[in-house]
Amino acid sequence: MQVTLADIMAAARAIGGVADGTPLVPSPFISARAGVEFLLKLENMQPIGAFKLRGALNAVAGAVDAAGVTCCSTGNHGRGVAHAAAARGMRAVICMSELVPKAKVDGIRALGAEVRITGRSQDAAQAEARRLPEEEGLYEISPFDDPLVIAGQGTIGLEILARRPDVETLLVPLSGGGLAAGVACAAKAIKPDIRVVGISMDRGAAMYESLRAGHPVEVEEVPSLADSLGGGIGMENRLSFPMCRALLDDLLLVSEEEIYRAMQVLYYEDRIVAEGACVVGLAAVLAGKIAVTGPTATIITGRNLDMEVFTRVVTGRDVTLGDKTVKGAPYAA
Ligand SMILES: *Cc1c(COP(=O)(O)O)cnc(C)c1O
Repeated sequence: MQVTLADIMAAARAIGGVADGTPLVPSPFISARAGVEFLLKLENMQPIGAFKLRGALNAVAGAVDAAGVTCCSTGNHGRGVAHAAAARGMRAVICMSELVPKAKVDGIRALGAEVRITGRSQDAAQAEARRLPEEEGLYEISPFDDPLVIAGQGTIGLEILARRPDVETLLVPLSGGGLAAGVACAAKAIKPDIRVVGISMDRGAAMYESLRAGHPVEVEEVPSLADSLGGGIGMENRLSFPMCRALLDDLLLVSEEEIYRAMQVLYYEDRIVAEGACVVGLAAVLAGKIAVTGPTATIITGRNLDMEVFTRVVTGRDVTLGDKTVKGAPYAA
C-alpha cells in the first residue's frame, strides 16, 4: 500500500492552519434514532465548503518543483485546487468544457485560478489537463487517485480519532474513493478494530460496482441528489481502488428517497445545509440499513449544492432527476 499513517501525519502538517480543525458535533436526533452517540464531522465548514481542500493543499505542497498545478473539475475538487494553489502562491489552471455554466466558471476564477476552456465535452477538457504536465510543466492533481490527495483526505480520520478515540464506526460517503481510502488508512492504523463503511447512492455507484466485480468497471452516470458521488473511478485506477478493497469493512447503497429524507432530517433537526452526498451515512442509519454499536461518526463532506433543488427538498416538493422523480413530502419527525 502506497499511503501510510506517516504520510497522513505529514499531510496534517501541510494543511495546518488552512483546512484543518473542522468541528465534530453530536446530532441528538440521529443519536436517539440510532441508539448510539452519532457524531458529524463538519467539512461543510471548510473555506471552499468541502473537504477536498485537504487533499488539494497536500498535493500543492508536494508539487513544489512543478510550475503549477492543473485539474479538470468544475466541482469541489476544482474549487479545492484553485483555493489551495492561491493559498500557497502557486499557479493553477482548471480545465473545463464550453458547456460549463458561467456561474461555475466565475466561481473557480474568483478563487484565483486560471480557467482554460477547451472543446464541448468533459473528455476534451480532461485531455487538455492531461497535456499540460508535459507542455507547461504543471502537476495534474487527480480528485481521488493520487497518494498526496488520499493522505490529505485521511487527515479527517486523524482528527476524528484524536477528538474521540472511542469512535467504533465510521460511515464514509464513497465516490472515487480518495476520501474513504485516506480516512480508513488513518483510522485503522490508529485503531485496527474500527469499522469503516463506504456508502454510495444506488444509481451509478462506480466504486461499489468495481469492488463487487474485483476490478474497475464503468457505470452509466445518472443524475442524483448525491451528485458529488457521481462519476467513474478510472479504468487505470492505481490507488484508491486497491485501498478501498483492502480497508473498507462494508459497502452500502441508499436510494434517492432515503437521501431526500436524510437531507430534510439534517436540515430540520441539526439546522445544517449540506449536499445530498453528505447524508448517505445518515440515510443508511435512518433507513435501518445498518446496525451500529458504539459511538459512530459520519463526514458531512460539503455544502456546494444547487439551492433550487435544496429548496424543493426542504419544502417537501417532488424533485426530478432525469427520468426519475423523487416523490416529495413535507418534513415530519
Ligand atoms: C468528492 C466528494 C465526495 C466523495 O469523495 P471521493 O474521494 O471521490 O470518494 C463526497 N462528498 C463530496 C461533497 C465531495 O465533493
